[in-house]
Amino acid sequence: MDEGLRQNVRQRAGHRCEYCRMPESATPFVPFHAEHIIAQQHMGTDEADNLALACDRCNAYKGTNLASVDPETGEVTRLFHPRNDLWNVHFVIEPDGKIIGRTDVGRTTARLLMMNAPARVRLRCELSSDELNG
Ligand SMILES: [Zn+2]
Repeated sequence: MDEGLRQNVRQRAGHRCEYCRMPESATPFVPFHAEHIIAQQHMGTDEADNLALACDRCNAYKGTNLASVDPETGEVTRLFHPRNDLWNVHFVIEPDGKIIGRTDVGRTTARLLMMNAPARVRLRCELSSDELNG
């Protein structure tokens, strides 16, 4: 992937993870990734509309998954798609720093990507709401 495209993905995302909304500036020593929303293994392309900026943790837990199991219903459910879905429709950040799924897609994605692992919730709490939402 060329550097220009990677920079475009970064800017389009406002320099924050498109899954958990962590700003890149919060983890200066752990680079974010321009990840494939649909993995190449599943015929995803290198085009900008199949790329999303993801923090190291979201990228690692998502891997090549397209779907997982909704922890509430047990149903196989697709993951959040940053290009097609609106974050605020599927997730909300609670005052205690936890990210709660508002929909089946949100619950499934928050669980698979371990968005509420204790260290991640702690880091989120240390950020101002401007840094998280801005
Ligand atoms: Zn993330």
